[in-house]
Amino acid sequence: MTNAAKVLAGLEAELGWVRDTYRDLHRQPELSLEEHRTARLVEDKLAGFGYRVVRLGGTGVVGVLANGDGPTVLARADMDALPVTEATGLSYASEVTGVMHACGHDVHVSTLLGAAKLMADGRGAWSGTYIALFQPAEEVGAGSKAMVDDGLAAKVPRPDVALAQHVMPAPAGTVSTTAGPVLSAGDSLRITVYGKGAHGSMPHMAVDPVVLAASIVLRLQTVVSREIRPGEFAVLTIGALNAGTKSNIIPDRAELLLNIRTYDPQVRSTMLAAIERIVKGECLSAESPREPDFEFYDQFPLTANDAAVTEQVTAAFTSHFGPAAVGHAQPQTASEDFSHIPDAFGVPYTFWLLGGVDPATYRAAESQGTVSRDIPGNHSPFFAPVLDPTLSMGVQAHVVAALSWLAPDTTRP
Ligand SMILES: [Zn+2]
Ligand SMILES: [Zn+2]
Repeated sequence: MTNAAKVLAGLEAELGWVRDTYRDLHRQPELSLEEHRTARLVEDKLAGFGYRVVRLGGTGVVGVLANGDGPTVLARADMDALPVTEATGLSYASEVTGVMHACGHDVHVSTLLGAAKLMADGRGAWSGTYIALFQPAEEVGAGSKAMVDDGLAAKVPRPDVALAQHVMPAPAGTVSTTAGPVLSAGDSLRITVYGKGAHGSMPHMAVDPVVLAASIVLRLQTVVSREIRPGEFAVLTIGALNAGTKSNIIPDRAELLLNIRTYDPQVRSTMLAAIERIVKGECLSAESPREPDFEFYDQFPLTANDAAVTEQVTAAFTSHFGPAAVGHAQPQTASEDFSHIPDAFGVPYTFWLLGGVDPATYRAAESQGTVSRDIPGNHSPFFAPVLDPTLSMGVQAHVVAALSWLAPDTTRP
């Protein structure tokens, strides 16, 4: 019997409360930085399992289980929900108006708690230190940084490796991994451009910021299409354009909210330079009376998986789940703030994807080419991972990945 099999021997007995915990969290979602109930629930469970519990960054919770000599592995789950009104109709749907676990962070919390319990109960089968870290506020890109700023690296043992997973619209019963970029870097940018206000009937007295902003919107469409090498990944979206109050008043300013996504830091700096040049150039040509303002907010780092760590986790998954259950992940255009945690310690990491959709439903949509239309994605009000086998797979993935450091399977060729 492998060490993983020994630790996972108690899995079936634990899945009942893991499902209950998932449904409880799903009914009671909490927004970013407001995860008070969730944090208390996590603290109580970890303390009950025998972990040393540390609070960090307000609602962040870390459980440390020291179990003799050996490596240290850190596994992370995020805890926050979204300002989305749930439309799933599930019996355990959100009971909080306008708030929903629409990104599956309730899956992450309940599966990491399940893994933490099994690691504690199975400590005779491994050696080293296991750290279960629960971070707040992933959705606003603030939670991992809040934990780092609150002394994470000083208060928690330095891990050798950091691990995380995210439930995705893929068949339940599968995990997928990839080395290199798995999630994009994301930057939000608020740009304010200035005009000269006047009566709507007297445009000759004005510098019209509405026309200026409109030409910026169009010109910015050339950044990806004309300045980035074809085949490089880059997204530029202008998500908001705000100006004016009334049809007969030319306002004195306009505000644009931009979002960019990249995998390559060089592509990112090329895009930012192009945006600044185009905005300044259009302001100059409009005779804008004041330099535009650029303000960054909601910034997410690149998530780029370490090749050796990913190879080790992929081998452990393949050996445990069988090759058919382990896929190659396509890099996602979404972003995450997880990497601030391993970066605070200067250690490598991998972030894998966990399937959460009923396999038959997924395969049917896939064969008709309608996955993006018929399968609700993360952040959708219809997002509803199936409990089985998603929760079981999520618990096992955490245990199997951690044990590949803490109790390497020497029987594997
Ligand atoms: Zn999300
Ligand atoms: Zn998420």
